[in-house]
Amino acid sequence: MKAAPFAYVRPATLDDVVAELADAGDEGKVLAGGQSLVPVLAMRLGRPGVLVDINEVDGLDAMDEVDGVLRVGATVRQRRVERDPRSRTVPLLTKALPFVGHRELRSRGTVCGSLAHADPAAELPAVACCLGARLELAGPRGSRTVGAADFFAGAMTTVVADDEVLVAAEFPTARRGEGFGFAEIARRHGDFALAGVATRVRTDGDDVVEAVVTAFGVSDRPVTRDVRDILDDPAAFRELARNVVDTAGDGHGSTGYRRRLFAVLAARETAAAYAAAKEVA
Ligand SMILES: Cc1cc2nc3c(=O)[nH]c(=O)nc-3n(C[C@H](O)[C@H](O)[C@H](O)COP(=O)(O)OP(=O)(O)OC[C@H]3O[C@@H](n4cnc5c(N)ncnc54)[C@H](O)[C@@H]3O)c2cc1C
Repeated sequence: MKAAPFAYVRPATLDDVVAELADAGDEGKVLAGGQSLVPVLAMRLGRPGVLVDINEVDGLDAMDEVDGVLRVGATVRQRRVERDPRSRTVPLLTKALPFVGHRELRSRGTVCGSLAHADPAAELPAVACCLGARLELAGPRGSRTVGAADFFAGAMTTVVADDEVLVAAEFPTARRGEGFGFAEIARRHGDFALAGVATRVRTDGDDVVEAVVTAFGVSDRPVTRDVRDILDDPAAFRELARNVVDTAGDGHGSTGYRRRLFAVLAARETAAAYAAAKEVA
């Protein structure tokens, strides 16, 4: 199958991107790495009238680590983040990135594109939620910043308006006493996950100050829960699974199977994050 006809524009400035999107109304779509959008077009799952290619916009390919934040611009490729030494300041990101499709896809696919696409089984939205990343949007009414917890509105849906563009994602760098865990179960490496978790534990001396699990692949969006009170209690993680996993079963696994995956992965990776936190306390 081939894509339905569309117009293609490649603005050179962010202002022009915003103007093109405003002109296009609900017919416009941002094109970043194209790794999700192009298959959608080719299968005619979407028929946008105008593609606004952001790859020529100056500055969107910047990646900076300043004042406790790793800022990843809208056209920064996933593979670049994976390889850049500064990414080690955000260990959860480097743990998760190798699970995003295959290396070839990551060479084109962008971190921001994955967030904007909002696939419920994608790894990076869960990382953003687990870390409390901040997402910067630009539109005709100016710019605004949205916390990851408020960014995902449902399956393949975010709060980015038709005339807005995601400019950058800001991930907090790891603090002293903070440890992380990440795991997923997929049928083959590179497939979307049947269930997965990103975990973060922060300690202060012997005290656990924060412990959170973000699940993905088990609901219509990432689901984050405070697990500070159940760190050593596998039965409580099994109970939590009933509250977190609300996807209907399918040919790849029943709801019960996904609940079991979540409970095991969440308990294991929370323990791993706790152990890592104690090491860097
Ligand atoms: C075979 C295959 C396997 C894959 N496996 C995985 C996987 O295991 N895990 C995973 O997470 N992903 C997977 N992907 C998706 C891949 O990671 C994509 O790179 C990613 O989802 C989208 O990034 P992109 O830059 O290619 O975005 P695009 O394809 O260009 O865009 C995707 C969507 O986001 C919107 N968008 C993109 N950038 C912006 C922006 N800056 N502002 C506003 N809207 C924007 C577009 O309009 C479009 O709707 C897979 C893809 C394929 C083809």
